[in-house]
Amino acid sequence: MSLSVVIKTPTVSYEQPLGLYIDGKWAAGVEQKTFETINPANECIIASVYIDIAVKAARKALNGIWAQTAPSQRGRLLTKLADLFEEDLETLSAIESLDNGKAISLSRGDVQAAADVLRYYGGWADKLHGKVIDTDPETLNYTRHEPIGVCGQIIPWNFPLLMWSWKIGPALATGNTVVLKTAEQTPLSGLYAANLCHKAGIPAGVVNIVSGVGGVAGAALAAHMDVDKIAFTGSTLIGRKIMRAAADSNLKKVTLELGGKSPNIVFNDATIDLAISWVNFGIFFNQGQCCCAGSRIYVQSGVYDQFVEAFKARVGRNIVGDPFADNTFQGPQVSRLQYDRIMGYIRSGNEEGATLEIGGQRQGTEGFYIQPTVFSNVKPEMTIMREEIFGPVCVICKFETEEEVVRLSNDSVYGLAAAVHTRDLNTAIRVSNALSAGTVWVNNYNMLTAQVPFGGCKESGIGRELGKYALSNYTHVKSVRIRVGGALF
Ligand code: ADP
Repeated sequence: MSLSVVIKTPTVSYEQPLGLYIDGKWAAGVEQKTFETINPANECIIASVYIDIAVKAARKALNGIWAQTAPSQRGRLLTKLADLFEEDLETLSAIESLDNGKAISLSRGDVQAAADVLRYYGGWADKLHGKVIDTDPETLNYTRHEPIGVCGQIIPWNFPLLMWSWKIGPALATGNTVVLKTAEQTPLSGLYAANLCHKAGIPAGVVNIVSGVGGVAGAALAAHMDVDKIAFTGSTLIGRKIMRAAADSNLKKVTLELGGKSPNIVFNDATIDLAISWVNFGIFFNQGQCCCAGSRIYVQSGVYDQFVEAFKARVGRNIVGDPFADNTFQGPQVSRLQYDRIMGYIRSGNEEGATLEIGGQRQGTEGFYIQPTVFSNVKPEMTIMREEIFGPVCVICKFETEEEVVRLSNDSVYGLAAAVHTRDLNTAIRVSNALSAGTVWVNNYNMLTAQVPFGGCKESGIGRELGKYALSNYTHVKSVRIRVGGALF
C-alpha cells in the first residue's frame, strides 16, 4: 500500500503523506484499518489514513536522543520548523481549506499563526530555569523545571494546524516528546507537517503523529499507562472522558481546552460600526466553529434596534462559498455530522419560539454550507441559548443594566471567553473583572497571539495554552536539596 498520494487543489498540487509518523518513519497501522477524510465543499473522499499508537518510540526518544539535546538546539529546531511552515505556507493553507473547508485567506492566517507559535516557543527553549532557594547556611536548594515526559495530545478539526502548533510548541520547548492524534475529519495537514519535522531535523521519535478515530486511538492515548500527560482540545463531553481515563489509568497530568458559549456585550456608548464588525467576526469567523465563538450577543436597550438592523445588513454581506475563492469569508461546515447538528439547533430555535432574524437555511445544494443565522427573542432556558452550537448561529438579546448583563453573561456552565464593547474605560474594566471567562476582549474579538495565554474557567477547561503560562503545563518542578553541613542528629 502506498504511503503517499498526489493531491491537486485549486491553488497547489502536492504529495500528501498517509499513514502514521512514528519514530521518524512512515508506517501503516498495525491492523491495516483505514478511514476516509471528506472534502466538505463537495463531499468527495480525499484520502485514506491509518491508525496506530507510538508511545514506545516517544519514550525511547525521551530517554535517549532528546535528553541529550541541548535546550538551545531544541529552540533552533522549533525555529527551523517555523521557517519551513512559512516556506510551505501555500501548500499547508491549501490542505487546510481542502480538508476543513475554511476560506483560503483564513487558512493562510492560520498557517502563519502556527509558524508564529512554533517560533515563539523556540525562543523559550533556552530561557527556562528553576530557582535557588535560601533556607539556611547548611543547605543549597534549587529547583529544576523538568519535562513531564511522553505527552499524548489530542486535537480537534476546527484549526487543525494551529492546534498542532499550540500543542507541539510548548511540549518540545520544554523537552517532552509527543504522540499527537489529529482529528479524524482533518488529518492531512498534521501528517504533512510531520514531514516538515523530519526536514527540520527533529530527531526520530520526538514527534509522532497518528491519525485515528477518537473512541479508539484517542481513548487509547488517554488510558495509556506509559503516557505521562494528556493535553486535549475538543468538546466538554469528551474532556470528561479524558479526565476519567487519566484517573482510571496512571493519573497522567491533564490539561483541557473545551467548549464555550461566550457572551459578547455591546453597551449603549460603543462605537456601533466597530462593534458590529467585531461581533460579526466573533461569531461567524471559521464558520462559527470556534470554541470561543461569541454566540450570545447582548445589546443594551438604547442601541438595540439600531444594532439589530445594522448587524443583519452586515451579516447579509458575508460571502459564503467556495473555500478556494479569494473573497470567501465563510466556507462549508466540516462534516455532514456537524451540518446536521447545527441544522438541528436551528430547528430547535424555531420550535422553541425564538425569532429568526436572518439565515436559517442550507446554502446551495452541494457541500455543507449553512447561511449565517441570527435569532432574537431568545429566553434564557432555550436550547440555543444554553448549548454550544459550533456553527454560524448566534442569539441576540436586549439588556438594560450592567448588573443584569453580567448576571446573564455568567449564567452558563462555560467560561472560556467574553467581550465588552464600550468607549468607557471604567465600564470596560469593571465588566471584564466581573465576567467568568479565561479571556475578555474589549472592543475586539477572537484575537489570539502566541504570547497571550488562552484557556477556560468552569466547564471550559483546565490549564492555559499559549504564552509563558503554557510552559508550566509541560514541566514538573523538582526540588534538589544539597546538604553542605554535617549530620543533624
Ligand atoms: P467534536 O464533537 O467537535 O468532533 P470531539 O471532542 O469529539 O469534538 O473531538 C475532538 C478530538 O477528540 C478529536 O481528535 C477526536 O478524535 C477525539 N476524541 C473523540 N472521542 C474521544 C475519546 N473517547 N477519547 C479520546 N479522544 C476522543
